[in-house]
Amino acid sequence: MELTREEIAAVAERKRAAYEAVIGLEVHVQLKTASKIFCGCSTRFGDPPNSNVCPVCLGLPGSLPVLNRQVAELATRTALAINCQVREQSIFARKNYFYPDLPKGYQISQYDRPLAEHGRLEIHVPTGGAGKKTRKKRIDITRLHLEEDAGKSLHEGLPESEAKTYLDFNRCGVPLMEIVSEPDLRTPEEAYAYLTTLKQVLEYIEVSDCDMEKGSLRCDANVSVRPVGTEKFGVKTEVKNLNSFRYLAKALEYEIDRQVALLESGGRIEQETRLWNTQAGRTEPMRSKEHAHDYRYFPEPDLLPLVMDAAWVEDIRRAMPELPAAKEARFVEHYGLSDYDAEVLTANRALADYFEATAAKAPNAKTAANWIQTELLGALKEAGQEISRSPVPPQALAELLQLVEDGTLSGKMGKTVFEKMFASGKSARAIVAAEKMEQITDAGEIEKLCGEVLAKNADKVEQYKKGKQALFGFFVGQVMKATRGQANPRRVNDTLKKLLG
Ligand code: ADP
Ligand code: MG
Ligand code: ZN
Repeated sequence: MELTREEIAAVAERKRAAYEAVIGLEVHVQLKTASKIFCGCSTRFGDPPNSNVCPVCLGLPGSLPVLNRQVAELATRTALAINCQVREQSIFARKNYFYPDLPKGYQISQYDRPLAEHGRLEIHVPTGGAGKKTRKKRIDITRLHLEEDAGKSLHEGLPESEAKTYLDFNRCGVPLMEIVSEPDLRTPEEAYAYLTTLKQVLEYIEVSDCDMEKGSLRCDANVSVRPVGTEKFGVKTEVKNLNSFRYLAKALEYEIDRQVALLESGGRIEQETRLWNTQAGRTEPMRSKEHAHDYRYFPEPDLLPLVMDAAWVEDIRRAMPELPAAKEARFVEHYGLSDYDAEVLTANRALADYFEATAAKAPNAKTAANWIQTELLGALKEAGQEISRSPVPPQALAELLQLVEDGTLSGKMGKTVFEKMFASGKSARAIVAAEKMEQITDAGEIEKLCGEVLAKNADKVEQYKKGKQALFGFFVGQVMKATRGQANPRRVNDTLKKLLG
């Protein structure tokens, strides 16, 4: 039974809180290799259809697959990064099914002996309250296995009777890893956070470009619901091929509500595969759940077992770059940043590197962290620019911070100079010199300026002396105005106090 959107919304609104969701994700990641997993064809995206194919990836009779060594390395690096145990011998298996974009009639995958198992990932989940607090949660990872991608079908034309389907086999044999989580996630936010952390790790270790628009990272979401307080998992459905974070969250929200509404209406959840319909904003049935036996798995007779010996795994472990969690902990420890600042600044490697390069030259690492988060990230966002192409390089930002630190510029003037640096690419010193922006700190000059303002406003000085204290701010404002904000505000305050006696 399929309920309408309105029926689902009405029941879910009343009953949603009585249920808890259980979610497990299967994430497909395209590995960043120049050639395919079992042949020498290019993996380049966007080439003319069927230009990157050969007898092996087309599955022509008599052709034999040979494993791409780089695939084994990148997948093992990933397995180590997500704390998996790497199996010394893993086995490729044939997964048999019939589909137009699968010319061989089977997909080479791994089945009962995958490359790696028993991993875990720590995620940060926003707590939702005020502020930017997150809580940590450990998500276990069931397995990581290797497989080849299938081709692409392109459907064109309507009505159906005149529609055509084109097949592009360029993607056949592109290397994929599938990373399967345990059913440890409980909310769409947790699923979102898990995918965010996983993507962050994959980008740090440079195993994939993780470009969701090109399909380099795709996610199937398994979800069930159970009454709050019960142990037993409900029957799950699987929503296939979610290719954006937003769709993952929306599809899960919808699917949870649908299951709750169905159960509350006396219905039963069918174990099935569903699709997210972006236009309609709902999940729709695609096919009833297929089972392992439907695929008639058997060991791939044309490939040897993949042997990852201890020495090779150790080499890969040694070459591992610093991972986000370790970097975050180091930023707190070494630079004295708050957990939140460290989390933001390690969101990606380019940003973390930018921060470290700035902190190395800046007078104060915490100040550098603040300026990067507010001024730099704000300006980059507004300009739609990546940090790697920031018009203000780390050295230049550090120099600006130096000028603020030594009092040449007030904090406010510093921000103005930053804007000019960002717009022009010029250095802080060049801008300050060209626009005569130095802060006025000279005691004699400030005293003269303050004296002039008081002389011009003799009536107000009179009122002030009779007790109208609020006028003090007015005098400060007048001095700042006369100097276009360039007088050192603290010195102006002190001097005025002295002169007004
Ligand atoms: P299947 O045999 O149907 O493919 P798996 O046991 O391989 O199921 O699990 C696939 C994914 O579904 C995993 O990510 C797992 O965590 C998740 N999963 C398993 N059972 C449930 C459940 N009852 N509710 C939600 N997710 C589940
Ligand atoms: Mg499965
Ligand atoms: Zn090929």
